[in-house]
Amino acid sequence: MTDKTPAKNESLLHELQARLAELEAQNAELAAARARYFDLYQQAPVGYLTLDEAGLILEANLTAATLLGMPLDALIGHSFFQFVLSEDWDACRLRCERLFATGQPQSCELQLLKPEEERFWARLEATVAQREDDGPVCRCVISDVTAYKETDLRLRQLSTAVEQSPVSIVITDAGGAIEYVNPKFTQLTGYTLEEVRGQNPRVLKSGELPAQVYEELWQTITAGGEWQGELYNRKKNGECYWETASISPLFDATGRITHFVGVKEDITERKWADEALRESEARYRDLAASIPGAIYQFHIDCEGAYTVSYMSDGAEHLFERPLSELTDSRLLFSDVHPDDLEGLQQSITEAARQRCRWVHEFRIVLSEGRIKWLRASSNPGQTAEGGLRWNGVLLDITERRQAELALRRSEAMLQRIFEILPVGLWFTDAGGKLLRGNPAGIEIWGAEPLVPPSEYGVFKARRLPGREEIAPEEWALAHTIREHRVITDEVLEIDAFDGQKKIILNYTAPVLDDTGELQGAIVVNVDITARKRAEEQLEHYAAELQRSNQDLQQFAYVASHDLQEPLRTISGFARLLAERYQGQLDEPADEFIIFILEGVGRMRDLLQSLLAYSRVGSHELRPYPVKVGEVLRQVMNDLHVALAESDTEITHDPLPTVWADPVQLAQLLQNLIGNAIKFRGAAPVHIHISAECRHDRWKLSVSDSGIGIEPQYHEAIFEPFRRLHTAEQYPGTGMGLPICKRIIARHGGRIWVESVPGRGSTFYFTLPVPSGRA
Ligand code: ADP
Repeated sequence: MTDKTPAKNESLLHELQARLAELEAQNAELAAARARYFDLYQQAPVGYLTLDEAGLILEANLTAATLLGMPLDALIGHSFFQFVLSEDWDACRLRCERLFATGQPQSCELQLLKPEEERFWARLEATVAQREDDGPVCRCVISDVTAYKETDLRLRQLSTAVEQSPVSIVITDAGGAIEYVNPKFTQLTGYTLEEVRGQNPRVLKSGELPAQVYEELWQTITAGGEWQGELYNRKKNGECYWETASISPLFDATGRITHFVGVKEDITERKWADEALRESEARYRDLAASIPGAIYQFHIDCEGAYTVSYMSDGAEHLFERPLSELTDSRLLFSDVHPDDLEGLQQSITEAARQRCRWVHEFRIVLSEGRIKWLRASSNPGQTAEGGLRWNGVLLDITERRQAELALRRSEAMLQRIFEILPVGLWFTDAGGKLLRGNPAGIEIWGAEPLVPPSEYGVFKARRLPGREEIAPEEWALAHTIREHRVITDEVLEIDAFDGQKKIILNYTAPVLDDTGELQGAIVVNVDITARKRAEEQLEHYAAELQRSNQDLQQFAYVASHDLQEPLRTISGFARLLAERYQGQLDEPADEFIIFILEGVGRMRDLLQSLLAYSRVGSHELRPYPVKVGEVLRQVMNDLHVALAESDTEITHDPLPTVWADPVQLAQLLQNLIGNAIKFRGAAPVHIHISAECRHDRWKLSVSDSGIGIEPQYHEAIFEPFRRLHTAEQYPGTGMGLPICKRIIARHGGRIWVESVPGRGSTFYFTLPVPSGRA
């Protein structure tokens, strides 16, 4: 063993050295690896913890310390439960116990609490490890899953939203095959997910929409866009419905379309409601257009600013402006008459304050200054924003205003007339009670006794001409109230309340309404006391005059007639004296005899004229329809010698038949034509007779081309014995025209002259048209 030993030992030594070197190398390598692994352990993306059975932290890596928010040194020796929320302690302990009892790995997710009260979601995975020297320990991997947890929550919320969504949701793959539909889809269409999975959504197509709609839809979404529109689809039970659809593609990370999502809402009811709304709006528009005037809406906000939100078409007609201008809030009051603007705005403010119904009438000014009256009414209502909404109606009340104005004017006029009317006027109510009298009425009666019929007895009067007293129920007014009749021309002698006796004309009339119902009565009293007295006076004078006229006529007649006798005696003896003693007396005596004879002749002419004049008045007038032409012929016949001698020409118009006494008419024409012949100048005279009808009279005229008459004598020549010339110049007595005047007066007519001296005269006279003929 010895000789072998050194060599053996040496090789052993070598081997040992080699092994040592190897071991040292291995050791160095191990140390390096250990350092590397320690780093890895410390810096691992998850935390490592080693806990004992009580939960005390025995070991931890840096990641775990960072997660738990503590320095690594401080962490060792801490209880892990310190980081667990108290409500999770029980569950945690239970899992720990189970881990150590069964050796089964345990995992859970729970919220941990850092020392700064900050929380985070952690995932814990625990296994049991057996230590060589000591009991078992728990090795726990801890990771922060907060981000994952939040995403998970969001996803959960989203999927719940999709599931619970009140709109239907359809998800298809990129080829359009349905992968998912939500419960609302099933509820709406009747198709379950199982029934439509793998199908194309066109199973819902109603066939009522044009193919173009679907083409467009598909083009939009396959190009990556979102399509929105309305679809008309069919349910499983065949019923059709409207839906709005919004379909958009989903992309993967590379931008490739992987799915399409459709969100659809059933709008059938809304469609019907829209339709109904459209219809009702159209109806309302029609209504708004057909009512007179316009409907409007404007708002007043809290700051008092106006916004016109609606004006019906009728406003264009009212304001004579296009609607676009009328809904411009800045122009709202621009047409209002300047005098009415303040009142209008004040009334709006007042109604806004009181929140009461608002009615206001005002003027607007249109083109060329024309004025229109409008009546605006509204019920102001509060808006959600705290402002006011004015919905109202505008009406054109110009005509009504004008009528009112006219009514007011005529009322004022009537009132004025009532006051100044010179006749008495009284009004009663339907029961006959006197309501009021005008000043003239009160003056007539000397009081204003506003009494009912039962007290008509206060009026004392007698009916003329019989003078019978009038009983209260016999008053004309009482009759009018009872019988609704008009009573006229009642002449009464009244005892006025001031004691005077008066004569009045009494007139009563009922006032009826449109239906003939009695509204009241009016009484008209005309005080004719003065007139009656004057009439009586006049009658008296007329009688007097007639008597003295008759006396005068009698006297004239008697005088002219009786004077003829002594005149004839004088003229007889004067003629005898001339025959027997002419030339036997001296020259002046002969001359005197001639003077006597001339004077007697003139006296005879005068007496005869006077006699003719008084006969016109004393003889009875016998008028009847007389042809003027015939009378003229007879007169011309009587005057033919004078006409021939004077070379006078007579012409005439067609002559009428008049109502006249033919003898007097002949006398008239004879006088006028005789004068025309007599008062001619050097040249032969031309006489023309014409006639013209005026209402119930004939106006006849005799015109000549004679010497004419100065204007100042046109009246005087009709007075008796009035002459403008001496008997030497033109013979005559001055009684011709007075006789003419008397004849015409007896026929109820008039005679006058128009003349230009040197040019001729025209005598006009009027005579009645025979009744029934012109
Ligand atoms: P007399 O013819 O006898 O003079 P009248 O009474 O007939 O009396 O006329 C009164 C006067 O009126 C006349 O004297 C004459 O001056 C004037 N007169 C009447 N007729 C005419 C006439 N046709 N032309 C001019 N003067 C007239």
